This record gives sequence, structure tokens and C-alpha cells, in this order.
Amino acid sequence: MLCSYIMSAQILDGRKAREALLPGLMEKIRGLSFVPTLAIIQVSDRIDSTSFIKAKKAFAKKIGVNEKHIQLAENISQEKVIDIVRECNADSNIQGIIVQLPLPAHIERDIVINTIDPNKDVDALTAMNVSKWSEGRGILPATARGVRELLKFYKISLKDKKVTVVGRSELVGKPIAIMCRNEGAIVTVCHSKTLDLATETKKADIIICAVGKLGLIQSKHVKRGQIIIDVGINRKEDGMLAGDVDFQSVKNIVAAITPVPGGVGQMTVLALFENLVDICGNI
Ligand code: NDP
Repeated sequence: MLCSYIMSAQILDGRKAREALLPGLMEKIRGLSFVPTLAIIQVSDRIDSTSFIKAKKAFAKKIGVNEKHIQLAENISQEKVIDIVRECNADSNIQGIIVQLPLPAHIERDIVINTIDPNKDVDALTAMNVSKWSEGRGILPATARGVRELLKFYKISLKDKKVTVVGRSELVGKPIAIMCRNEGAIVTVCHSKTLDLATETKKADIIICAVGKLGLIQSKHVKRGQIIIDVGINRKEDGMLAGDVDFQSVKNIVAAITPVPGGVGQMTVLALFENLVDICGNI
């Protein structure tokens, strides 16, 4: 009788990794001579932004760090947002500033982001910090750092690996691709104009998907032995969260995969506060 074994992928559990890395972060916080404060500037009340901020605030509370959530109306002027960023820059009680993205269409993201004092730029998105991490220096944007720490936790090296990053946004895809390159990976970047996504994803050892399209990556995009990092966060019709990868259709093919929720998102929050502590260490 023939027996067929269905292998299920290893789950790269972000919650487990975050819990394991938490004592190290707490130790660093205890080593500071003051309690750090993170200012979170939110323009509009988008549901996704509100839930990301809720997670950041809950984590700040858990680790004993202060947060100052500044919520602004959707129709606020760009000048007013800039004034508020400048107030946070000048406030010596605030060590880290994050402007929750995306911003409403009438506000120019780059202008607002580049108003943040680079020394308080906890998500490393100001031009000065982008040029630093592009060269492998300074802090990384939180999602890229979170992906790096998750891979490290599971002892998955990026060195000499073929990595296909799907998504090339300034906030997520680009920093992840550069982080992988700086860790020694051979990186391919895919985007909305990529003609044959499956060919590009199938040639990778590691696929990192950061698009925001439910179920974009299907069984036809993957092969045995691959590691899948699903950065995407999408809301399904039933209100539940899911990633860009069709988990059910790939889980018996690939070697390892991050769940959504409970994967990269957990690590992004941890990484944001690791960045804050690193900034404080330099004060
Ligand atoms: P953006 O909309 O800014 O960027 C999406 C990227 O996906 C673009 O580069 C776009 O290409 C590309 N893209 C769109 N359609 C396709 C397609 N069919 N095939 C290949 N590439 C495509 O989104 P973000 O980068 O800000 O966020 C991406 C996802 O990551 C979202 O789901 C977001 O919620 C999630 N996220 C998760 C975090 C976490 O911690 N887990 C943190 C932050 C975000 P092009 O450049 O050509 O337009």
C-alpha cells in the first residue's frame, strides 16, 4: 500500500519570538536613566491605523514606556500637522516620534515625515535616516527590523539566500529589500507591474510579501522548501485579519511560514520600541 505524507510548514510564530525577546528589551529599558516617551501622531481615524496604534499603545504599557497619542482630524491642514511635529521635536520629554501612515491625500507625506527631527525619527523614514540604513547604518524602519529579528530568532540566515520581496513601498517593501541585501541576500523586488510573479517567487529561497492584497500568493507561486514571510495585513469579509498569502493553499508545500495575525505584525511593534530604546541610548 502506498502511503503519502502531507508535511505541514513550520509556523514562524511572531508572538513566541516577541515574548522570547521581551526580557532583552526590558533590560535595556531598565538601563536607561529615564522613562522614554513615544509620540504617535494620527491624522484621521482610519480603522487600520487605529488598530495598529492600539497595539503600539498596549505594548508601551506592557513594557512601561510612555506614549503620547495625538489624534488629529482628517481635514486638518498640512501646516497644522507640521506645527504639531515641530512641537514634538522641541519637547524634551519626547524621545521618539511616529507619524502614522498613510496620511490623507491632501497632506504630503514626505514633507511631514522630513519635519521629524532625525534624532527622534523612530521609524527611520526621514531622508537622513533612509540614507543611513540604505548603507547599513543606524536604525531600520520597524517592519524591516521586525522581519530581520524574526528570521534571526528562527535561525534563518539571509546570507547568500535568494530572496524575492513582493512590494516596493518606501515604508515597507523597500526597507525590507535593502535590509535583506545588507544581510547578504541576493534580492529580487516585484511590484504591481511585474509580468510573471510566479516565476520570480518560485526561484526564491525566501519570499517576503508586503502588498496588501488578500490571497495574492497562491500555491502556484511557491515550491517545496521555501520560507514565506507574510507582511500583508488585510481584513476579510468576515472582519478577520489575513495576510497576502493564501495560508491554506501553501502550508503543505512550503517549509515555513508566518501566520497573519501573529507573525510579522508582532515583531514590528517590538522593533519600533527597540528603535526607541536605541535612540534613547544615543541621547
Ligand atoms: P503600499 O500600498 O504602499 O504598497 C504596496 C506595494 O505592493 C507596491 O509596491 C505595489 O507596487 C505592490 N503591488 C500592488 N499590487 C501588486 C501585485 N498584484 N503584485 C505585486 N506587487 C503588487 O502598501 P504598504 O507597503 O504600506 O503595505 C503593504 C502591506 O503591508 C499592507 O497590507 C499593510 O497593511 C502591511 N503592513 C504590515 C505591517 C506589519 O507589521 N505586518 C506594517 C506595515 C504595513 P507598485 O509600487 O508598482 O505600486
